[in-house]
Amino acid sequence: MNSIIYLDNAATTRVFDSAIKSMEEVYSIDYFNPSSTYKNGIIIKNKINTARTIIAQKLNCAQNEIFFTSCATESNNWALTCGFKNKKGNIVVSLGEHACVYECVKNMKNSGADVRFAKLLPDGRVDIDHLLSLVDENTSLVSVIHASNETGAINDLSKISTLIKKKNPKVIFHSDGVQAYLKTNNNVKALGVDMYSISGHKIGAPKGIGVLYISSKIKIRPLIFGGGQENGMRSGTENVAGIVALAVASEEYSKLQSNNRVKELRDVIVKKLHEIPDVTILSENCPHNNHIIAFCAERTKAEIIQTMCCDDGLIIGRGSACSSHHSGNRVLNELGLSQKLIDGALRLSLSPLTTKEEVDRGLEILKQNIEKLRGHKIG
Ligand code: PLP
Repeated sequence: MNSIIYLDNAATTRVFDSAIKSMEEVYSIDYFNPSSTYKNGIIIKNKINTARTIIAQKLNCAQNEIFFTSCATESNNWALTCGFKNKKGNIVVSLGEHACVYECVKNMKNSGADVRFAKLLPDGRVDIDHLLSLVDENTSLVSVIHASNETGAINDLSKISTLIKKKNPKVIFHSDGVQAYLKTNNNVKALGVDMYSISGHKIGAPKGIGVLYISSKIKIRPLIFGGGQENGMRSGTENVAGIVALAVASEEYSKLQSNNRVKELRDVIVKKLHEIPDVTILSENCPHNNHIIAFCAERTKAEIIQTMCCDDGLIIGRGSACSSHHSGNRVLNELGLSQKLIDGALRLSLSPLTTKEEVDRGLEILKQNIEKLRGHKIG
């Protein structure tokens, strides 16, 4: 195969060379156990805490509010299952959540928890009025995704936080920040969140490293009991290489993001998509992340377009990679899209390393395949 054009960075990203180098050092030189009390172990513990400080700076919180996990799925499950303390109360989540939130609360509901789902607006954001109507004096936890992995729509967390806490100051507010981390404002204090989940592999760090920010103002149960790592909250010998690489990748991603390239490339893509007949771009007219461009190409089948493009060396997404394990696209259904739009729902997603040449060539391949498939009158 010729060199691949990769436009599925919301699914995962290539690991930065700098992050790989930092991991190699940990594996071959700094391999000591951070819990060991001799000098070598203490040095590694310090490396973890330096990484913790870097992540804390990115989220504008204190170092002791950062807890490393194995992935955002774990962070979200932890926040929901251990944050929902008052089993007699209720939990409110948006219908726009990633499967690792939605399936987790569905499981809690099956075990008897009062779980309430807030509707979405057609633009992909949560319907704040409906969400508020579900919150009452017994609500103990609210969870709303920051940026949608399906459409890129950004929820106004600070507004939601203010309104729900006005109604019930005791509510714990969690957000899945995976698609938002380093792509929009992640100041957890300004956003008014008590817990916030992030994942390494969306920003040039490896798979297998995540974070849960837990505000020092709230108390939730530990996730895993054992040797007392992560301040007793998440035991298990730390993934030192992943932690160090997450900090290195965070610094590099922030630096690369500071130019306007992703926004410029998005504008190019949106313009070209509008030139194709019967293409609808999702979450275009509401606050959105620049790195995700979700669209529906009528009279096509997304899975066929995806395969045709892949055969031509262009990798694109359709819905989220995780939703491919579940039938249909739950979130797009919640937006009220017709079946003919959902059938042709695709997602392009960028990284700060994506080039204009890749976008130009990729859009050419995509356009040709849409035309080819429509020529065969499928759909
Ligand atoms: N939340 C969102 C919004 C995501 O996009 C993803 C990954 O696709 C996850 C959670 C899960 O992250 P991880 O792969 O680290 O478990």
